[in-house]
Amino acid sequence: MSRSAHPAGPRHADVLPEGHYTAPAEDLNALDPKVWARTVGRDADGVVTVGGIPVTQLAEEYGTPAYLLDEADFRERARAWRTAFGDDADVFYAGKAFLSRAVVRWLDEEGLNLDVCSGGELATALSAGMPAERIAFHGNNKSPEEIERAVRAGVGRIVLDSFQEIVRVAHIAQSLGKRQRVQIRITVGVEAHTHEFIATAHEDQKFGIPLAGGQAAEAVRRALKLDGLEVIGIHSHIGSQIFDMSGFEVAAHRVVGLLKDIRDEHGVELPEIDLGGGLGIAYTSDDDPREPHEIAKALTEIVTRECEAARLATPRISVEPGRAIVGPTAFTLYEVGTVKPLEGLRTYVSVDGGMSDNIRTALYDAEYSVALASRTSDAEPMLVRVVGKHCESGDIVVKDAFLPEDLAPGDLIAVPATGAYCRSMASNYNHALRPPVVAVRDGAARVVVRRETEEDLLRLDVG
Ligand SMILES: *Cc1c(COP(=O)(O)O)cnc(C)c1O
Repeated sequence: MSRSAHPAGPRHADVLPEGHYTAPAEDLNALDPKVWARTVGRDADGVVTVGGIPVTQLAEEYGTPAYLLDEADFRERARAWRTAFGDDADVFYAGKAFLSRAVVRWLDEEGLNLDVCSGGELATALSAGMPAERIAFHGNNKSPEEIERAVRAGVGRIVLDSFQEIVRVAHIAQSLGKRQRVQIRITVGVEAHTHEFIATAHEDQKFGIPLAGGQAAEAVRRALKLDGLEVIGIHSHIGSQIFDMSGFEVAAHRVVGLLKDIRDEHGVELPEIDLGGGLGIAYTSDDDPREPHEIAKALTEIVTRECEAARLATPRISVEPGRAIVGPTAFTLYEVGTVKPLEGLRTYVSVDGGMSDNIRTALYDAEYSVALASRTSDAEPMLVRVVGKHCESGDIVVKDAFLPEDLAPGDLIAVPATGAYCRSMASNYNHALRPPVVAVRDGAARVVVRRETEEDLLRLDVG
């Protein structure tokens, strides 16, 4: 297909080098521990291994593309978050980042709670045995059926997102003879992006009820009057891939301000606040994420300080990391199909997947890194763009990176930090078969989500 026949997509491949890439790493064979899962290394032959298994062996057994998930790393990161916050706070893993029944079991075993935001995610959580009281149900437009199912199952909390939903959930709970624990999601006018935040962001977005104009206070006023609801707290989520804690500081200040107003008006101190997720990870060596214990310390201090100033008892805090737990624990393994040097520009490396298994580059202009995985090489670095096999010029996996000049069809390359928002956002574009997720631990690999087959595709197409 020609480029001009397919101009579609929100972004076009900008084929001219922008001239501001970071220089190639000194050693292209090195695997920066910041961006790779913890058990990743190279064996004596130079082949990348995870959980002690060479990727060449995994490719042979499970095919490519495949998401390879380091189970030990996942468990360690989950445990680190839980330990960091201790018994005085709750960690909810945001299931939308990546959810499967195996993941639900790991979370359960490691003592984490779980956020879901659809009937499908709720079904997955329940079918893997997550106790309902440890599930929080989110979303800006939960259907009456989803709400009923969540209330019946006995989920620990439903996060209410609009005035209509306050009434809807109250009505459903009451008709089932239940009193549902709820938090109210508010927008505090803080928008955080990576290294900066905007404290006066206007609340022009679909989630939550604006603090501005007294709307959040009015929502609490209404919810407190309804018999079907037990209002347990306020929820705020300010963004994603955040490194700078000052956005949380402003958000906590504003949430605590609301708790104080509620106390003054209704004589009730709501016992919980949820500060959401959004903590950043390293996609490339340029990113410097914080450790869970630093984040826990900072958030706890911020909330404690704000509550002391407002003369409120410190509420129980919860946080909802998704990406920060699962993101770094997986990488995508691809096979190189073609290597196309464009004189004076860059070399296009086509792999056997693309925007169907990683939409983040096209959707968010996300940055990734890449490494030659099936061998090492001493060849000179060449500037590459790793692209997929889809009929879109915007089908880019890694925008700018360096790979060795002797890269050839048949080589395996790996893109790290694809554990979050890759499989969970995967599509069947061009009738691609979504790749499997293979969990690797202590020298053993097992499929936790299998590869789609053509039969899967045709089963949905009923003719
Ligand atoms: C997406 C989301 C999260 C998780 O975000 P990460 O960036 O993956 O940590 C947490 N809470 C809510 C309400 C979300 O919408």
